[in-house]
Amino acid sequence: MRVSDLLARGRTYSFEFFPPKTDEAQVQLSSTIADLSELAPSFYSVTYGALGSTRSRTRDVVVNLARTGNVPPVAHLTCVGHTRADIDELLTAYMAAGVENILALGGDLPDDPSQLGSSDYRFALDLVEHLRDEFDVCIGVAAHPEVHPRSPSREQDRQHLAEKLRHADFAMTQFFFDVDHYRRLVDELAALGVTKPVIPGVMPISNKGQIVKMAQMSGAALPAWLTDRLAPLEHPDDVRKLGVEVATQLSSELLAAGAPGLHLYTLNRSRAPREILRNLGLS
Ligand SMILES: Cc1cc2nc3c(=O)[nH]c(=O)nc-3n(C[C@H](O)[C@H](O)[C@H](O)COP(=O)(O)OP(=O)(O)OC[C@H]3O[C@@H](n4cnc5c(N)ncnc54)[C@H](O)[C@@H]3O)c2cc1C
Repeated sequence: MRVSDLLARGRTYSFEFFPPKTDEAQVQLSSTIADLSELAPSFYSVTYGALGSTRSRTRDVVVNLARTGNVPPVAHLTCVGHTRADIDELLTAYMAAGVENILALGGDLPDDPSQLGSSDYRFALDLVEHLRDEFDVCIGVAAHPEVHPRSPSREQDRQHLAEKLRHADFAMTQFFFDVDHYRRLVDELAALGVTKPVIPGVMPISNKGQIVKMAQMSGAALPAWLTDRLAPLEHPDDVRKLGVEVATQLSSELLAAGAPGLHLYTLNRSRAPREILRNLGLS
């Protein structure tokens, strides 16, 4: 099932996983997927390591989901550091397995440019155009409500995003903690004539150090009210509970703002996403 068709029917509720590195992590992911499938989610997405570092692991998880489950997978795919042959090989495997959805990403550049290798692509738009020309798939793209860290200006960020979305079917966002970032993004795209669905990404905080690092890497701000509430928490379970509370509140505001769906980052754990959907009355 295509995400564009699911969105046309109504709101989507979906979960993001990363490909496991060890047998133990694989067992954890399988158990998470079994738990979350009880909630009848609209789709799952599976991340892809920058420069193809998880190419075969991501492919294996996605293909397995497509072949064995009832919930359609979205395969993340970064294009920087890839040749057309790399992309075509992966897409051929996906098409054979019945995978119908690709999240077409630029990807982060390596710190050392010599690690880039041969690359036929520079930006996500290059991949979107290639997929559109060569493969019959539903295409999503990444949106950065607080502006991508490499964008020289907000205007240029929005123009590049609008151009990507004109060729794609939907967007999914980076995480953020203030609903106004989402509202403003949607308004700015509409002002550029783009009204394709933008699914907000919601991150339930589970670890203080980890969220600071992830926010720095992705260009998302941790608001003062949030760092103030996190600061006194010592016990990991208190952090997790606050993460669920904050994500529930934000999700509720996003739905009230007209978001076409919610995409929850799971970090391969089911407890927080389950609690959030239950709090929202959606499970
Ligand atoms: C929902 C979501 C999922 C993600 N999943 C993954 C994942 O699985 N694996 C992973 O490695 N990373 C992932 N990322 C991170 C993403 O790969 C990085 O943010 C990456 O740096 C940019 O990807 P992009 O697709 O936004 O790139 P692009 O759209 O290529 O944009 C990158 C930068 O280039 C600028 N730009 C675009 N076009 C042009 C142009 N023609 N001229 C000049 N500048 C231009 C943009 O404004 C932006 O600043 C994800 C991000 C999001 C929001």
